[in-house]
Parts: sequence; C-alpha cells; structure tokens
Amino acid sequence: MEDTVILSGNPNVGKSTIFNALTGLKQHTGNWSGKTVLTAEGVYSYKGKTYHITDLPGIYSLSGTSPDEKTASEVIRSGKYDCLIIAADATNPERNLDLVLQIREISSRAVLCLNLCDEAEKRGINVDCEMLSRELDIPVVKTSARSGQGMDELKEAVYKIINERLCEEDQRELNDIFGTDDKGIKRLDEYIELSRNISKKCLCSSDSQIGTIRTDKVITSKKYGIPLMLVLLMLIFFITITGANIPSEFLAELFGKLRSVMNNAAGSAHMPEFLRGILIDGVYTTLTDVVSVMLPPMAIFFPLFALLEDSGYLPRIAFMADPLFRGAGTDGKNALTLMMGFGCNACGVTGCRIMNCPKKRNLAMITNSFVPCNGRFPLLIAIISAFFVTSIYHPFRSLISAVILTLSIILSIAVSIAVSGFINNKILKNKYEPFIMELPPYRRPQFVKTVIRSVFDKTLHILFRSIITAAPAGAIIWLLSNIRYGDMSLASYLVSFLEPLGKIMGLDGKIISGFLLGFPANEIVLPLILMLYGDGGTSAGNIDLTSLHDVLISNGWTIKTAVCMIIFTLMHFPCSTTVLTIYKETKSLKWTAAGFILPTLCGVIICSAVNLLMSLFI
Ligand code: GDP
Repeated sequence: MEDTVILSGNPNVGKSTIFNALTGLKQHTGNWSGKTVLTAEGVYSYKGKTYHITDLPGIYSLSGTSPDEKTASEVIRSGKYDCLIIAADATNPERNLDLVLQIREISSRAVLCLNLCDEAEKRGINVDCEMLSRELDIPVVKTSARSGQGMDELKEAVYKIINERLCEEDQRELNDIFGTDDKGIKRLDEYIELSRNISKKCLCSSDSQIGTIRTDKVITSKKYGIPLMLVLLMLIFFITITGANIPSEFLAELFGKLRSVMNNAAGSAHMPEFLRGILIDGVYTTLTDVVSVMLPPMAIFFPLFALLEDSGYLPRIAFMADPLFRGAGTDGKNALTLMMGFGCNACGVTGCRIMNCPKKRNLAMITNSFVPCNGRFPLLIAIISAFFVTSIYHPFRSLISAVILTLSIILSIAVSIAVSGFINNKILKNKYEPFIMELPPYRRPQFVKTVIRSVFDKTLHILFRSIITAAPAGAIIWLLSNIRYGDMSLASYLVSFLEPLGKIMGLDGKIISGFLLGFPANEIVLPLILMLYGDGGTSAGNIDLTSLHDVLISNGWTIKTAVCMIIFTLMHFPCSTTVLTIYKETKSLKWTAAGFILPTLCGVIICSAVNLLMSLFI
C-alpha cells in the first residue's frame, strides 16, 4: 500500500519545485502568492516503498478563509496522511515559522524542509538545523530543490517518520486558536512572538531582504515603476515582433511547396476532387496557417514572458496595479488573478480561488478574459505586425508595433478594471478589502530550463491544442464554403447573416464568423478568417506575416478594420475551456452566461463606437 505524504507551506517557498524534484513531474512553477492554486499529485519511490504525495496550495496560516486556504488547512487538520512536509524559506525562516508552529501543534508526523538553502548561503544566512529541530521537536532537512540538493535526505526523513514511527501516533487536538475572539487573536500573536524568538536563536546572520528591498524601492516606486514596466513589456514585444517575421516567411514558403507537391500527388493518384479539397484546401491549409502565422510569435514570446515570471517581476506588476483595483472597489488579489489570465484565462479563473468574498470572486472570474491569454497574444501580434508594420513606413516599424501592443494591453487592463469597478460599486456594492501581498525576492531565472519548459509547457502545448482544433474547423469551413444551397454556399449564408453586425463594428461577416467558429481555441481564429477570405481554401495559398497584410488589404481591410479587430480580439467571449471553467468554479449558469456575454457586449459596443468615431474623423 502507498503511504501518503502532504506537502504544505507558505506560497513561494519552492513547494512546486520540491514536488517536481521528488516526483519528477513537470509541474509548472510560478512566482506569486497563491500561484499553486490546485493540488498537484504525484508518486515517488524510496527504499522499495511508494509514496503518494499531494502538493497543497500555499497558505500563511491555518485560519485563512479563501477556498484555497480552506482546502489546504482542512487537509492538514484532517490528519489523513502518513507524513507532512512543511516547506519553508531558508532565507527568511521567521516569516514561515508561525505556520510551522501552528501545524506542529496538530501533527507531530511532520518534517520541516528548509528550502532555498543555496540562496540563503549566498546571502550569508545560516540556520542551525539541530537547534531548530530541538525547538520545534520535528526533524529539519536543508534542501535546494532547484538543483535537487537534499532530496535524498528529505526522503529519508519522511521514511523514518512513517516507518520507524518516531513520533506519537495520535493527532494532537488544536485548541480554539482560530476563533475570532480575543483568545484566538492572542494565540496567533503568541505564535508570531515564538517564531521570532526561535528564529533569533537559530539564525546566524540576517541581511536577507536588504538587496530585494533596495531594488524594490526603485522598481516598484511611483516614479520609475510604471515607465519601467512599460519599457520591459515593449522590449519583449519588440523582440517578438522583430524575430517572428523571418521564421514565419520560411514556414509559409515550405508549406506552400509541400502543398504543391501534395496537389500534384493527389492529381496523379486521381483523388476525387471533394476529398482533395477537404484534405488539402481545408485541413492542411488551416493547419499550416496556424503553424506559420502563430508559431513564430509564440516561440519567441512565451520563453521571454516565462523569464520575466521566473525573475519575480510579475507580482510586482500586480503590486503596482493594486491602487487601481482599490479604486474599483475590488479585492487587491484581483490584480494577481489578472496576471495569471495573461498566461491562460482558464488558469486565471481557477486562480480566483485565492479570493475570499464569493461575489468578488465570481466577478473576477467573468472579467478575467478581458486580458489576452496565450492564445490571443499571437493573434494580436500577427495582426499588429502584419498590418501596421507594413502599412506605416518607418525605420522603427517593430517599435511601433510594440507600442501598439503595449497600448492594447493597457486598454485590456483598464477595461477590466472599469467593468469590475462599475459592477462592484453600482450593482454588487462591494468594498475594497486590503490584503497583504508578499513580494518574493528577485531570482536569477534559470535561462535554459525556463526556455525549455516554456517551449514544452506553453508553445508546444498550445500548438498541439490549436492543431487538433484547427483540423476539424478547417474541414468544417471547407464544407460550409463548398456545399451549396440554392446559388450560395452555406458559409455565405452565415457570413451574410453576420455581415450587418460586422459592418456596424467596423469588421465584416467573415471576421465575426471566424471568431464564432474559433470558439474552441482563439489561436485558430485568424486562419479561419483567412480560409473564409480564400473561399474555403480554393484561392488561398500559404500565408506568412508579410503576405498576410496583402491578403487583408485585398479583402477590404483598412486601419479602422485592424483597430476594431484588435479591440474585438481583446474583448469577446472567452474560449470554450474558459467558459467551462467558469461554470465548474461558479456552478452557476447565470455567472457563466455573464462571463460569455459581458466581454462580448463590451467588444461590440467599443468596436461600434470606435468605428463610428473613425468614420467621422478619419
Ligand atoms: P511555490 O509557490 O511554493 O510552489 O514555489 P515554486 O516552486 O513555484 O518556486 C518559486 C520560485 O523559487 C521559482 O522561481 C523556483 O525556480 C525558485 N526556487 C524553488 N526552489 C529553489 C531553490 O532551492 N533554490 C533557488 N535558488 N530557487 C528555488
């Protein structure tokens, strides 16, 4: 039978990294509090025995009230495990000790894993583990999970606790320290005082946070914080846009040649025209357009963004945005969930579990899709670089695109805050709840590991997802474009039905159809639109970012169309996975419908207004 091990601790102490080092599972590690929102599970073997390990969401105390904190503390209190690993940060043990003491009071089957020892060593911080172990009355193991150091010792400690039954069996009862009465508060104060004393005894040096605090004084300062953030974002976009063109052209040319070869082969094999059309013009063209237009920006953007994430900068963006959220009356944690949405809206929605108030949590879920996710970033980059780079003559074309993209991101955050503010203040009448945001220390990202991980976790994952959705969608569009009813194809009926709405919004019926048919995944929207422009693939060749501009212009695009397209990309219904996640999290059809309708309505209204204004003034 497997023994069960629970991994708990404060956020950002390297729990996911310890979990990965123990199990060899590639669970993504992030950098901000509450990042580990789902419990991850895995297995490892040691001395011929198998251990089932669960990584709980990070918590600061056993008295938290958000769903995440409640889940973690319920598991810890339940006592349904054979051993509990409490992970703590060796660079700042005092901060972690009050949780250790709380857990220690209910369970003696625990081991303290003092992680990040490499960083502690670099900063001249030394913890006397023997003394700490005596003070806490549980084993203490030093680890550097990132390099795998100390993992065998950790496994040995767990083994001893379970197999040698070094500690008493019974769960100790926790007195009512978590009540809201005076007595409860007093107990929590006692814990803090006790952890201060223990850490004074066991810590040899303490210059831990000085470097980070100094850096933060500049990086998150009112004067330099926002400009620096904009410059950083622009730099990432600039590198992405500049770098994406060449591989995109190369891939399109390659796929174009392959297409001719396949067409010739189909001709020689006397393949029926219907089959050739659906396979080559439908499935193949959509698939290869996804790869040539979307893969290059993804392959550059995701690793760069992952490096930023690993360095500890993302929570700082949330920290700087906090005053804006305060104005909107929403929970400050909303800023963190929006940051998660930049990666994936479905993750952002799940991330809302860190929020305490249910109404605010639901609101944060339905406004998360205002920020563009991984699927929409390449779409935005493709449109901006194809349209604006080639239409504006300027020596700094990529720079202009980077500026436009940065402005788009600012717009998305601004609309999300404005909508949350309106609903919070006018409808739900929620009040701002202050919260303590822990800024993790800056860490030098592991360049190679981070790049490889982001390529596998994000780029290839998203590419795979787009490919499996693009193939059937390509076939469907081909069928819609080639099956005729009366003297029009089925696609033409859909397009003409949506054309009036498209025109009001500064777009056209084909663009709206592309968005609708791209509901399973945003990354296939553009290839689907191109497919519709190419009459179901009959006139479309393979497209790269440069030829994309000509195709769009020849289909009646103007600056106005491109601007409205960017806005609608930022503000429309979330993808099917996100919608499903909203339903799973809220268990409410009403909130799910709101999550679908709200961004779409905003997109329709803002696009229509921009279309009207641009028609009047340009
Ligand atoms: P969690 O929130 O507790 O799950 O923490 P993560 O596992 O996401 O780690 C947070 C950050 O600390 C990541 O950037 C990790 O790469 C880094 N990290 C984790 N363990 C170590 C370690 O032992 N040494 C160093 N230098 N960094 C670590």
